Amino acid sequence: MQVYNSYSRSLEPFVPLEAGHVRMYNCGPTVYGRCHVGNWRSFLFADLLRRWFEEAGLRVTQVMNITDVGHLLADAEEGEDKLEAQARAEQLDPFAISAKYAELFLADTRALGMKPAAVYPHATDHVPQMLAMIDQLIEREFAYVAGEDVYFDVSRFERYGKLSGNRLEDLVAGHRVEARAEKRHPADFALWKSDPKHLMKWPSRFGEHGFPGWHIECSAMAREHLGEQIDLHTGGEDNVFPHHECEIAQTEAITGKPFARYWMHAKFLTVDGGKMSKSLGNVYTLDDVTKRGFLPRHLRYALLRGHYRKSIDFSFDALAEARSALEGLSEMRARLQFDQDKAESGAEHAAQAATELRRAMEQDLLVPEALAAVFTLRDHVVSGRVAGPAATRSLEVLESLERILGIEEPVTTGDDGEVEALIAQREAARTAKDWAESDRLRDALDDLGIVLQDSAEGTIWRRR
Ligand code: AMP
Ligand code: ZN
Repeated sequence: MQVYNSYSRSLEPFVPLEAGHVRMYNCGPTVYGRCHVGNWRSFLFADLLRRWFEEAGLRVTQVMNITDVGHLLADAEEGEDKLEAQARAEQLDPFAISAKYAELFLADTRALGMKPAAVYPHATDHVPQMLAMIDQLIEREFAYVAGEDVYFDVSRFERYGKLSGNRLEDLVAGHRVEARAEKRHPADFALWKSDPKHLMKWPSRFGEHGFPGWHIECSAMAREHLGEQIDLHTGGEDNVFPHHECEIAQTEAITGKPFARYWMHAKFLTVDGGKMSKSLGNVYTLDDVTKRGFLPRHLRYALLRGHYRKSIDFSFDALAEARSALEGLSEMRARLQFDQDKAESGAEHAAQAATELRRAMEQDLLVPEALAAVFTLRDHVVSGRVAGPAATRSLEVLESLERILGIEEPVTTGDDGEVEALIAQREAARTAKDWAESDRLRDALDDLGIVLQDSAEGTIWRRR
């Protein structure tokens, strides 16, 4: 399999450190609010990777953190952090805010059918590990104490800027970093900050009112749960700088080894063609989606159908398109189930779709091409060109796609035997020209969520 490694800016063969086992760290949410569709693009991308690796027979140890210590608004190192701002708005303790939104996040991951990570570590549970790393960095002279704060000394880490392509002088010139009297270099970043006004704070040898920098949280949690070297680290494109650049510096300064072998980043999602923002009222959550009658699987499809390295646009029209695409796949399944017992035809279509699906996913998760392969097969199926064992193999292709994207149809009421018995009764009623009875049975089936399609060869049915 080939993946695009943001670190080398090229496609590379994916080879895990330990054969057959992938250790993956996904930057998770900062829990000061409900996750929005943009966040879900990034998290579903992680879920897609997980699902594809497993489909390909690899074991995956997935860690997705929960950032429950606020990091600062913007990247400036001063001002109120997002969690504390939300705590003030809701008149709650910041710990109550983070607990509330972490719970909602986990509930949303379940509703969205995301495979559960092995661990969802909370930053607040890893403060001793962060302080231990900070001590090691100071000992090795990669960090220095300034008053009650601790900074990472970027000029000591030669590779600083390698991931993001930023050069120190450009960062300064472009005002992407802030010069402060206590910093040796304007691009030095905080590992530990002190602020008596802060509500979430921990005592340490640096002072009574300290709290960790955002980046050290992920370095410490990844190390704790996955070890010094991991295979893959993901996030949204905005995580490249400064977050991931700083994680690399912190971890590698201590271990002297490459931290993550592969870095993968999902491009941003836009909404209604533009930026998502509270003032435009277009920061949609899973609730906003379900309130309009869409299912979580419609959202999964809408967010996963594009290639993760291209930006995608979210809109309710896009969700409606996702719903009809899924309906199309559902019709394909119904037709394949119906045609399975006939004489074989269309073996070449099934084989081609299986090959193309795999090839597309192995090529840096080219979901659009994987979908094209299955929809081409669908055309052959609905025009009756695939039957017998080739229909069975086509069902396997369809099911593989559904597992990879996590868009399996939910199990509804009425087992297959019951449904087929009702259909047989309805056919008998139709043969007897008892239209009232046949309509009654159609309604009964409809109540069970069964959609009927009458064809010359009999009734094809599927679940809605
Ligand atoms: P945050 O809670 O702000 O730390 O964000 C959690 C994750 O969502 C990070 O990996 C971000 O990169 C990602 N993210 C935030 N907004 C978007 C967006 N519009 N499109 C894609 N990913 C996003
Ligand atoms: Zn992170």
